[in-house]
Amino acid sequence: MTSKKTYTRPDTILAVAGRDPANNFGIVNPPVYHASTILSPTMDKFENRVPFEGFGYGRNGTPTQKALEDAVAAIEGAHRSIAVQSGLAAVTGAIVGFLKTGDHMLLTDNAYGPARRFSNTTLKNFGVETTFFDPMIGAEGLAKLMRPNTKVVYLEAPGSQTFEVQDVPGMAAVAKKGGAAVLIDNTWATPLYFKPFDHGCDVSVHAGTKYIVGHSDAMMGLISCASRSIFETVKTACQSFGFHAAPDDAYLALRGLRTMGVRLRHHEKSGLAIANWLKARPEVDKVLHPALPDCPGHENWKKLFKGSSGLFSFTLRDGYSRNALAAMLDGMDIFGMGASWGGYESLMIPAHPDQYRTAVPWPKGKHLVRVHIGLEDVEDLKTDLAEGFERLNRAHNA
Ligand SMILES: *Cc1c(COP(=O)(O)O)cnc(C)c1O
Repeated sequence: MTSKKTYTRPDTILAVAGRDPANNFGIVNPPVYHASTILSPTMDKFENRVPFEGFGYGRNGTPTQKALEDAVAAIEGAHRSIAVQSGLAAVTGAIVGFLKTGDHMLLTDNAYGPARRFSNTTLKNFGVETTFFDPMIGAEGLAKLMRPNTKVVYLEAPGSQTFEVQDVPGMAAVAKKGGAAVLIDNTWATPLYFKPFDHGCDVSVHAGTKYIVGHSDAMMGLISCASRSIFETVKTACQSFGFHAAPDDAYLALRGLRTMGVRLRHHEKSGLAIANWLKARPEVDKVLHPALPDCPGHENWKKLFKGSSGLFSFTLRDGYSRNALAAMLDGMDIFGMGASWGGYESLMIPAHPDQYRTAVPWPKGKHLVRVHIGLEDVEDLKTDLAEGFERLNRAHNA
């Protein structure tokens, strides 16, 4: 870093971390290095490359990925962060580092769907057992599920699609006492709105694809590690699998990170405006937004988080058919229908926790809609939604 001081305020860290113009011809942003082969000047240097340090082979990273990793580590307060090819690779790479055949993992029931699938398929095939737990079980409930062979406790707060916010420090303390590593998916809050290492977590994983990249145009995963030994455990697993983030994508992620503070404040403000507007709609049953009291774990959010992002969901009152909901969603003008979120644009999808939740079954037939509030004008978003509710009612009454 060219700036000589260490900064603690997030907006300054986002602007200065992970770049060194003075050693880069004065150019503001780090260059994109494309590399497989990286040459050593002497046999001695070639044969004595230090694991995890320097640049020995393209798959293990170049200064481009390192710049992103340094910036993310700085903003999250991590010992080091690791860039990988996707958020899911961050999830799986982090998990496997801590597990071997015969071990047990506790996974929150509201975890990102593909993380569940990884546990139910690949990990199961390798002889690792997973128990899903009610996200609102709390520290005491978690303590009852701990086994001598429980090596990973995996949290996600708020959880995917249903947004329950867990008592992270309480549960982390129980897991630590039982000898398990504490992993958390911190994608929703980003390092700006939740600090996993202040609350007892060992590893924080991010789908950088979402708010860090921020423009819906690249895949990225980041794994932040609390200490040197945690870093070595996770990096060894990721390196063994050949996980790697492409340099162009690392560049895009780092560029996105620079504006994440301003973007997130806008997502937060608009997200809250729309959540409160939805709450007043007669068609809406509950608004599951961590900053609103209807959301399970709202108290934990208030205590532990510094803000909220633009992703939340709402349920419809009973009685609407699938066709009526389709009439609403099919005709949206601004809101797009598609996987992922965290870009500048608004999204809206139907969600189906009844099809996968096991520890706490989701009521059958209860329509859940997940929205991502982008950077468009809030009044235009409200109009788009109001017209959507008109279509819903028209189809319902037809
Ligand atoms: C999207 C997402 C992931 C996976 O990220 P990809 O980059 O799509 O692989 C992991 N966790 C959460 C919470 C997500 O929303």
